[in-house]
Amino acid sequence: MGKETGSLQRRGFWRNAQSLWQGMALTFRHMLQARRRRAPLDIADPNYFAHQTGLVTLKYPYETLPVPENGRYRLHNEIDDCIVCDLCAKICPVDCITIESVKATEDIGETSDGTKKRLFAPMFDIDLAKCCYCGLCTTVCPTDCLTMTKVYDFPEVDIKNMIYHFTDLSPEQAEEKKRLWADQQEAVAKAKAEALKAGQQKKP
Ligand code: SF4
Ligand code: SF4
Repeated sequence: MGKETGSLQRRGFWRNAQSLWQGMALTFRHMLQARRRRAPLDIADPNYFAHQTGLVTLKYPYETLPVPENGRYRLHNEIDDCIVCDLCAKICPVDCITIESVKATEDIGETSDGTKKRLFAPMFDIDLAKCCYCGLCTTVCPTDCLTMTKVYDFPEVDIKNMIYHFTDLSPEQAEEKKRLWADQQEAVAKAKAEALKAGQQKKP
């Protein structure tokens, strides 16, 4: 009985010693590997997965991982190509796009893909503090002027600065466009009323 207990104790001792040795060897191996660092490689780089050991953390923001060109981060609206159709605002699941439109009274040209422009946008705001970066707005945009960019680092101290304004009209220009549209509507209504009156007078 005593002999058997002694044998069990010896086996337990060697098992524990072996396990301790394996743990220490693993720790020591990691300590040695930590002398090397993984280079900040683009995911498209053929060596991206080649470096399997060493430190993987970067000294951000002094070092950054290259972001792919098709990264889906901060939105941008190329307002010259926007036809102010409102589709992006309608599909946005969090209502973070606010658009105000006013009809043009003159020819305002075309977008770069040849789509006729008929509206101005006195307001085209995107609240990127609310945006969930789903990308739906970019998929419905008929002129592809609304895109997601690779800019992912744009913190602000004041949350109001997360609202991005894309209108190309100054407040004065916006007021002017609204006034021109209202004047034109008034003139059209007046002409219609006069034509109606003239038509009624002609009747026997
Ligand atoms: S990416 Fe999604 S949440 Fe952000 S503005 Fe576009 S539709 Fe809205
Ligand atoms: S969907 Fe495109 S064209 Fe239409 S309002 Fe939005 S950004 Fe402009």
